[in-house]
Amino acid sequence: MELVEIGSVSPARARRAPVRPARHLADLDVAERRQAVTEMGQPAYRADQLSRHYFGRLIESPDEMTDLPAGSRAALVAALLPPLLTATRELTCDRGMTRKTLWRAVDGSFVESVLMRYPGRVTMCVSSQAGCGMACPFCATGQAGLTRNLSTGEILTQVISGARALASGEVAGGPGRVSNIVFMGMGEPLANYAAVLRAVRRLSDPVPDGLGISQRAITVSTVGLVPAMRRLAAERLSCRLAVSLHAPDDELRDDLVPVNRRWKVAEVLDAAWQYAAATGRRVSIEYAMIRDINDQAWRADALARLLAGQLAHVNLIPLNPTPGSKWTASDPDVAAEFEARLAGRGIPVTVRDTRGREIDGACGQLAASSRLP
Ligand code: SAH
Repeated sequence: MELVEIGSVSPARARRAPVRPARHLADLDVAERRQAVTEMGQPAYRADQLSRHYFGRLIESPDEMTDLPAGSRAALVAALLPPLLTATRELTCDRGMTRKTLWRAVDGSFVESVLMRYPGRVTMCVSSQAGCGMACPFCATGQAGLTRNLSTGEILTQVISGARALASGEVAGGPGRVSNIVFMGMGEPLANYAAVLRAVRRLSDPVPDGLGISQRAITVSTVGLVPAMRRLAAERLSCRLAVSLHAPDDELRDDLVPVNRRWKVAEVLDAAWQYAAATGRRVSIEYAMIRDINDQAWRADALARLLAGQLAHVNLIPLNPTPGSKWTASDPDVAAEFEARLAGRGIPVTVRDTRGREIDGACGQLAASSRLP
């Protein structure tokens, strides 16, 4: 594990009251960008030039934008590419193939993102909120509560930074591109619906309007906010939906995923099947394997009954223990039996790898503010 400190972190100086992040190019669609530059007295095509720099060449510095008149570069960049997040710390592991970034926003909020390089693909796990209001007891982010929603610009900043590091060859394995995005960092993406949806569009709009990442390679993960899931199904996207189920029965799920007290397992799965029908995409059912809590054979059978015949795939995640938690990962034999029972009933199932554990960058371990000096 390698730790790189970038500048100094001084939470004492950070302003506490959450502020609305400044408007950013990534918040705007093409028409809105053109309108923004014309309101500045600039020709509309300046918006397209800025987009090419930002999304195409991954450039934000006015000095490098030599096709823009020297006199208006600084003003354009200040108006549409304000700095939103500052990387304050970077940790790498897996021989440089996994890298976590701790970001400080202008209001002093902290978020984290993780880049994971695999043979043939690079996945970025991004945060959609500073903190999270869903209060799942096994998740580190859930313990801290919600600070605020991130803007689309703040979400894109995490990805652009990873894309830039890959393009420059800074990430072990040689120059590359971000191919996959998972909204599995801090926050509940569907509780920040508008900004996340705009982020999906900016990520998938073709270069230079956006980053040109296929929607099929973007996963939105939710605790099961049913009205937002139904709304997402109606957007006609081709993103993947992941549902953090973690228990097949309401009695246990009420405790593991407290929002289950509002929307029960049956309603959540019904909305998931609606999403699958609308998009033709298999829904991922996320299931953290927690020793002696949700890993019994009868729960595997109950889960298999719920999923039988549906467009679904189960992702078993060995629990990443979080500080102070009484829970731990399932015994490997028990987890293997759980997996075999699902597979034996024809349910597609895989076990999630646990990249980034040693840098607290694995699922459920992102808790930026609580670890600051
Ligand atoms: N709020 C969203 C996305 C963030 S978490 C959601 O809940 O889906 C991404 C995934 O990591 C979720 O499935 C979440 O339940 C899981 N997770 C959280 N804490 C974990 C932990 N300690 N060990 C393993 N998985 C965890």
